[in-house]
Amino acid sequence: MTMRDPTTNPCRLCAPLGASLVFRGISGGMPLLHGGQGCATYIRRYLISHFREPMDVASSSFGEQAAVFGGEPNLHAGLDNLIRQYQPALVGVATTCLAETIGEDVPAMLRRWRMQHPDGPELVPVSTPSYQGSHVQGFHAAVAALVAHFAEPMALERTVALFPGMISPADLRHLREIAAGCGIEPILVPDYADTLDGPTLSEWTPLPTGGTTIADLRRLGGCRAGIQLGRCADPDPAAVLTAHAGTPASTLGLPLGVRSTDAFIQALTGILGTVPAPWLAAERGRLLDAYVDGHKYAAGARVAVVADEDLAAALAGWLTEIGCRVVLVGSGGRSGRLLSAVAAAGGPGDAAVADQDHAALADLIAAAQPDLLIGPSKCAPAARALDLPLVRCGFPIHDRLGAQRLLTVGYRGTLRLFDEVVNTLLARKQAGSEVGHAYL
Ligand code: SF4
Repeated sequence: MTMRDPTTNPCRLCAPLGASLVFRGISGGMPLLHGGQGCATYIRRYLISHFREPMDVASSSFGEQAAVFGGEPNLHAGLDNLIRQYQPALVGVATTCLAETIGEDVPAMLRRWRMQHPDGPELVPVSTPSYQGSHVQGFHAAVAALVAHFAEPMALERTVALFPGMISPADLRHLREIAAGCGIEPILVPDYADTLDGPTLSEWTPLPTGGTTIADLRRLGGCRAGIQLGRCADPDPAAVLTAHAGTPASTLGLPLGVRSTDAFIQALTGILGTVPAPWLAAERGRLLDAYVDGHKYAAGARVAVVADEDLAAALAGWLTEIGCRVVLVGSGGRSGRLLSAVAAAGGPGDAAVADQDHAALADLIAAAQPDLLIGPSKCAPAARALDLPLVRCGFPIHDRLGAQRLLTVGYRGTLRLFDEVVNTLLARKQAGSEVGHAYL
């Protein structure tokens, strides 16, 4: 099989997209892209089609003159306009490819703006050249920039910094619940559970309510520990917290499946010596009961996974846990850690293939001959061409409703996914049978 240059239907999206998502998860936070307007339009379109929520992304709106002589006047005017219209508590300034290519020194530009506006909002710059990094790297870079901006050594509190990675609003909400069940009120960075999955409002508000507060960001240095969920995070915000405040860091896989959720709960309870709430044991028991009921349908099924690296690793580990045969773990990420992350999650590291585009992955999926494909909407053409069922998972999901409500983490999220995977396998088997359907 020949491998194509990874430019046909890429798995990697724009780096400032991930940064914009992070800044939307800060209370009163607003993303501003330093570059051309088209970048902001593209990112808005992608995020809105996945989350089905309004998503404003400001732009310093480069024209030809700014592209040649530099965009500082545009950035300063953009900040003035944005503050007049939105009155944000924090502006996250992410660079686009053009700004990076002409070498814009955004931190220096922001310092000069600050001298004229000492009472303005918090300004957090982050370098996000898409030709170097993906949406996932942009996401982690923005979280790391927030940590570097706010964290400093201080007196310890009974709390933990939790860096969840790029997961759904429903997942974020459930992580908070699990932490509460372990006796911890974590500082979750970012937290777009409410800002990107909020109720319908009768009146327009410039910024949605919810998100990690700036007061909490200022408390990061007082956390007993920093936990990064996802072993492929580059940069790793928990390591940045260690560098700035001396906070002990640990890196875990996404809590998907019994083993990895157990590990997450053990890590949380170990920090403060707390005891998990009984409802966690009850949910674990219900998940094991479901495994008993469904294992004969899942066992031996050939499954191909396509996702961002940390989700791909977690899915591969969980599918192995339920007895599926993981025949491909494909990703566009290029952290260099996918294979080890898959192995650490308990999956088959030798099935991992990183740094791919969807065209190349379609060939790999065809060669692997799976019974089922798990991946984002961008896998739909391959699934259709190969007549494979597709369980949608990850980002982006723009051809189905409810991506923001997809719960995947914890015992509860695993149970939801287990039912969906087993039922999809059953539906495929029944569709090919003469009888059609049968009692299980
Ligand atoms: S030019 Fe770069 S920053 Fe802008 S949309 Fe394209 S990849 Fe993203």
